[in-house]
Amino acid sequence: MNPKALLDKYGIQPKKSLGQNFLHDPNVLEKIVNSADLLRDDTVLEIGPGTGALTQKLAEAAHQVYTIELDQRMRPLLEAQLALYPRVTLVFEDVLAVDHLSLVGPGEFVVVANVPYYITSAILRQLLEAPRRPRRIVLTVQLEVAERVSAKPGEMSLLAVSVQFYGKPQVIGKLNPAVFWPRPEVESAILKIDTYDRPIVDVPSEAAFFRVVRAGFSQKRKQLKNALSGGLQLNGADTETLLHTAGIDPKRRAETLTLAEWAAITRVFHTEKQQFG
Ligand code: SAM
Repeated sequence: MNPKALLDKYGIQPKKSLGQNFLHDPNVLEKIVNSADLLRDDTVLEIGPGTGALTQKLAEAAHQVYTIELDQRMRPLLEAQLALYPRVTLVFEDVLAVDHLSLVGPGEFVVVANVPYYITSAILRQLLEAPRRPRRIVLTVQLEVAERVSAKPGEMSLLAVSVQFYGKPQVIGKLNPAVFWPRPEVESAILKIDTYDRPIVDVPSEAAFFRVVRAGFSQKRKQLKNALSGGLQLNGADTETLLHTAGIDPKRRAETLTLAEWAAITRVFHTEKQQFG
């Protein structure tokens, strides 16, 4: 049954405020599940199951599926749609308030979801900054976000560096608004992130790395030396020394740096902290 008919049957009107745009194209659902390359014994976490269309496909491809849905109105509908799938666990809560690691248990897991766009960045942060990361994340997101996350040096942002520190993002394909009901106002894309077992760059700590990166992006379109001097509370001369020691031209802008270059600045800043007041 298509999502409109299904929701009508339960007297549910989609809520824009919850990012409720439901997928109904079987080819797209298949493409999302295939991008996740699931193994038969995999545990999957799905955020925002909605009407359960993607959940059913995930349950057919993996061993165990945990879902977290905020909208309590979906409970009877989801329970009926998934009655034949005993290895699906439904949780009705705000994903941002759930300890998702306790929910999925101690083993490896994969995240596959058509997420509510209003909390995409918060979800990425929750998944990537947790003590244990999913092996892979496959999300339907706004096309603009997918492109921003997978940007290359020249167009980097705090979001791109934050995601690429933990994993390799890839835009699998664009999705026309017509594959959703109701149609979203923006184009969408399937974004896949394969996470790294170990950090891709050598830094003294994640906290030190992100302190420097956040400072670097704190003042848009400014030269790195000005942004870092403000963000790290260093005087101009110390900032220039820091950047020269790390082998970076102080006139560059934050969006042009590679992760390896951010790591080089972090290492110098960390080892020579005393010198920099
Ligand atoms: N997976 C379904 C599909 O593909 O058709 C629905 C996707 S819809 C874009 C997003 C879903 O996330 C909705 O069901 C919405 O109610 C749910 N949602 C919104 N905010 C949420 C939150 N904070 N925590 C968990 N689920 C949320």
